[in-house]
Amino acid sequence: LSFDQMGLKDDLLRGIYNYGFEKPSAIQQRAVMPIINGRDAIAQAQSGTGKTSMIALTVCQVVDTASREIQALILSPTRELASQTEKVIRTMGDYMNIQAHACIGGKSVGEDIRKLENGVHLVSGTPGRVCDMIKRRTLRTRAIKLLILDESDEMLSRGFKDQIYDVYRHLPPELQVCLISATLPHEILEMTSKFMTDPIRILV
Ligand code: AMP
Repeated sequence: LSFDQMGLKDDLLRGIYNYGFEKPSAIQQRAVMPIINGRDAIAQAQSGTGKTSMIALTVCQVVDTASREIQALILSPTRELASQTEKVIRTMGDYMNIQAHACIGGKSVGEDIRKLENGVHLVSGTPGRVCDMIKRRTLRTRAIKLLILDESDEMLSRGFKDQIYDVYRHLPPELQVCLISATLPHEILEMTSKFMTDPIRILV
């Protein structure tokens, strides 16, 4: 399967090729189409497999840039990963005019408020700050249709379980969920059964 065969928007394809990618990696080959077709997905994958780019290109594809509401939310265990993901999305979505925001601890809350009130298509953040922004009603959740939980095992081992559940409770009921994790311990499987419907499982 090539990027051309995935039914991606032309402006997104330009972004991907301009980024220097020629051929999708294994996880991209297997995860992108089911996710853009609306399936819930559990991907067992480590970093370095192309998972960040897989996330970036799926969210760029599903977001409708004509609307200025937040349509996709990505949660990551660290500030670095959340910022990195936002950066890849911005670069790949360059030709599409995608507006993304990294909502992470340690940065100014005022800046978060300003960016979010301006209107963005998607947010990549850490569970604590995202939860905080949702409770302040600065991060509006009503148009979110896709939740991606990246490095989920790492998020749980950093103690973010309650915040993840808290975020999930504030999202619309018709939600698509994708979970990425290197390992699938009991607590992750518990989350998948609470959050997901008939997920496709991908092991790379
Ligand atoms: P990731 O796991 O997404 O952080 O990707 C690991 C590294 O592989 C990064 O440097 C990416 O830019 C690169 N990469 C990811 N997908 C592809 C691809 N399809 N073609 C070439 N390089 C890629």
